[in-house]
Amino acid sequence: MHDVVVIGAGPAGLALGACLRAEGLDPVILEREACVGSAWRRHYDRLSLHTDRDRSHLPFTPFPRDWPRYVQRAQVVEYLDAYAGHHGLVPRFGAEVTGLVRQDAGWRVALKGGEELEARQVILATGVSETPFRATWPGLDGFPGAVLHTRDYRRPDDLPGQRVLVVGFGNSGGELAIDLVEAGRDVEIAVRSPVNLLPKELLGRPIGNWDVLQKIFPYRVADAITAPVLRWMLGDYSRYGLRKASKGPIAQIREDGRIPLIDLGTLDLMRAGRLRARPGIERVDGATVSFTDGTAGDYDAILLATGYSVDLRPLLGEMPGVLDGTGRPLRSGEELAPGLWFCSYHTVPNGQLREIARQAPVIARGVAAAVAQAAARAPAR
Ligand SMILES: Cc1cc2nc3c(=O)[nH]c(=O)nc-3n(C[C@H](O)[C@H](O)[C@H](O)COP(=O)(O)OP(=O)(O)OC[C@H]3O[C@@H](n4cnc5c(N)ncnc54)[C@H](O)[C@@H]3O)c2cc1C
Repeated sequence: MHDVVVIGAGPAGLALGACLRAEGLDPVILEREACVGSAWRRHYDRLSLHTDRDRSHLPFTPFPRDWPRYVQRAQVVEYLDAYAGHHGLVPRFGAEVTGLVRQDAGWRVALKGGEELEARQVILATGVSETPFRATWPGLDGFPGAVLHTRDYRRPDDLPGQRVLVVGFGNSGGELAIDLVEAGRDVEIAVRSPVNLLPKELLGRPIGNWDVLQKIFPYRVADAITAPVLRWMLGDYSRYGLRKASKGPIAQIREDGRIPLIDLGTLDLMRAGRLRARPGIERVDGATVSFTDGTAGDYDAILLATGYSVDLRPLLGEMPGVLDGTGRPLRSGEELAPGLWFCSYHTVPNGQLREIARQAPVIARGVAAAVAQAAARAPAR
């Protein structure tokens, strides 16, 4: 029987590993891929962190001081490799967990291939960007060009065709529209819902660092204070076919779990007429996409920037009181059933990596206390 099993060796699994070791435990880390940080190896080439270096590192180990303020994707990968080495973390690779079953003294962990492990404490750190949400519309099956989800996009060459429709105005959609325009493509972006945009920096400080306002004021008040500044910086973007969300950016994250678009140049392209917004999609007929405002356009390729879904029911089954109706844990950073913990399954205003660095030590302390209690209860041999 293992004291503690961590599932996943992304940033969260590694942070947990380091914190558990600091508590004197020797966690088994199970990772289905062949490396740590597999999501960061897979993300698109031009990606840099949107959150700044000093607030995006994992516990105990800052990013090197001479790295840029917004660390590049390849550097994140380098950091995660070094982090695992530095903290003596050796995950078991190729170990995909397929099910978890409660038993008397803990949990039985089933692996693909039939092997089973037993653990007193299990921490899930399987991430929120593993299962692409592939939006669909009537007729999409008959679209003659490429239809790619952002999960499978690294660079413009991955998407053949001149006329590209990007679907979705989240951070990936907004940034990859820039990537494609810069590669000389004719790009339009379908934006179904009202949006919030944020500049990357406000008065020279990374936008995430303005969380001080949320510490002083209720978040709706913080939104109201920043609204005029944001309007002054970004202008009236409704003139580009975007609708401003009725609630502010922090309320949108806290209440709807939706991250606003951090503008890395998308608005400039719209101002320059090099990127055009369309509303939501109604249907697809051959290469023609019809939109909800009655307009239509012909495209050679579609890039689905429609996000990801989280559903842990395949691992845990229906678990009222632990998972919600869609399979997402009810809360993160907590033990939701005896010996069953969840790290970083909810969107936060100040960056997921920072939240991981906050949750991992809390979980590790809780797990260490539970392991110590179990040891104290065990009959002396
Ligand atoms: C494009 C993009 C940009 C982002 N930029 C930022 C940013 O700038 N700042 C920020 O703070 N956050 C950012 N995030 C959010 C967040 O930091 C990352 O998603 C981060 O990788 C989350 O770490 P994680 O360990 O929770 O999940 P992941 O990195 O997804 O790691 C989960 C791991 O679990 C493994 N796994 C999954 N299921 C199983 C299973 N059944 N058995 C075994 N292993 C399994 C996976 O293979 C994976 O290695 C970004 C996210 C995306 C998608």
